Amino acid sequence: MIPIMIPALSLKNRWRLLPVLALLLGARANAETSAAPDAKLLDTFTTKDGKYTITVDSTASPDLREWFAKNAIPKVVDWYPKIIDLILSPGDKPPSKMTLTLKNGVIIPGNPGVPAYASGGGIVVSSDFMRSQKDGEAVGCIIHEMTHIVQSGTGASKAPGWSVEGVADWVRWYQFEPRKKGAEISDPSKAKYDASYRVSANFLNWVMKSHDKQIIKELTHTMSTGYSDDFWIKTTGKSISELEAKWKKSLK
Ligand SMILES: [Zn+2]
Repeated sequence: MIPIMIPALSLKNRWRLLPVLALLLGARANAETSAAPDAKLLDTFTTKDGKYTITVDSTASPDLREWFAKNAIPKVVDWYPKIIDLILSPGDKPPSKMTLTLKNGVIIPGNPGVPAYASGGGIVVSSDFMRSQKDGEAVGCIIHEMTHIVQSGTGASKAPGWSVEGVADWVRWYQFEPRKKGAEISDPSKAKYDASYRVSANFLNWVMKSHDKQIIKELTHTMSTGYSDDFWIKTTGKSISELEAKWKKSLK
């Protein structure tokens, strides 16, 4: 393609040139659309320690690019190494690269309402959710998913789903945004330690405070070694049913 040279012109002359320019640019735009349809909008950020990079793909939602760079990414790069320190054990290898991809519409076919998910070293987030939750749940939701990326550093996934989700919500609600009190339990009579997400996060936080300060790291480590209910006897000296009963009592 012939490059279009646009010399510096006075404002008056520039306006005169516009119709010609519009024709030329129109032809140019058409040529480029067919030649390079897949140009992506990627921004890569590095954590302070220089060890990890996070790439944001805002191709689908360029309107969110600036908000991510200014508001979300500073927290994301700050928290990636923090989550590693909070949940991993020596020998685990957290991914050194993570991608964060914005997607419009329903992000998992057949599951409208899913705000984000983690898969294969990357996080996919719903652009609609991010737009509507800029001052609400947006960043906390990313922190939860980022915990799943860090968990993958254990190299396996042999722990039950409730513990994996419980740890991710523990990071979010008890470490990242504790002031929001998002994992409070409104009806203790119905609480179950393995109810997943916020409820399991509440249980794990109670075990950590009352019995074992290392419980989060130890539980995360079972992702690679395998989990059984003996885990609780070994770490706290109590069975899971004893712990659950004591925890429920503490909630009243
Ligand atoms: Zn999750």
